[in-house]
Amino acid sequence: QSVKMIVGNWKMNGVAADLTGAVAEMLAALKAEPTAARVGLCPPATLIERMVRTVDGGPIMVGGQDCRVETKGAFTGGVAAEMLVDAGATAVILGHSERRQEFGETDALVSEKVGAALRAGLTPIICVGETLAQREAGEAASVVREQILGSLNDGLTGADWALAYEPVWAIGTGLTPTLDQIAEIHAAARDAMIERLGDGGWAAPILYGGSVNPGNARDILAVDEVGGALVGGASLKAADFLAIVRAA
Ligand code: 13P
Repeated sequence: QSVKMIVGNWKMNGVAADLTGAVAEMLAALKAEPTAARVGLCPPATLIERMVRTVDGGPIMVGGQDCRVETKGAFTGGVAAEMLVDAGATAVILGHSERRQEFGETDALVSEKVGAALRAGLTPIICVGETLAQREAGEAASVVREQILGSLNDGLTGADWALAYEPVWAIGTGLTPTLDQIAEIHAAARDAMIERLGDGGWAAPILYGGSVNPGNARDILAVDEVGGALVGGASLKAADFLAIVRAA
């Protein structure tokens, strides 16, 4: 059983004051106790540098939630992968369904962003997942396969990246697929990773994301091919996130 990766995605939540109190205690606890998991937190870009200082050389990986493909230039509001690195980040979430939906990000763009992240030395966490309509049409596995084939990048040769399967209908809804459904899609995702990358498709973990909480984490993390979790809402509650990390 390999080390699970537990990553918190704070989305557009968090200001400096949120790094004190319960979150500071959680970070201190994670630093002090050897956990079985590789732990990451992805705050808004404005908080990366401050969070890096708060975790202070501990084992917690701090990541961004998106980056642009370009290294610099006239892209108002954009953040380059190199800028995330400059702020102290070591990872970046790419292709999250909220970006695919809100910003029209395509598989091809996500693939380019993965290349940019790798060029900068970041660990990409690449998100895929079907909508409710696609699941109800029986297309979940084929949609995920297509997204994987289109969103990965030839540069993904090592193990230092992750795929995240996040069914769109499970995000922030309290709904989760059954354990069998998770197993089915994770197996299909692994096949697609190998189809796309050959032997390079074996090593990276496949995280599950979508309404992970302290009550369901242990069961989900025990499913075949679930290599960790990408946690949204519950990562904003220090005690819940700590409980999920301990469930790994
Ligand atoms: P929730 O855990 O809030 O459902 O969000 C999942 C997610 O989108 C993580 O990236």
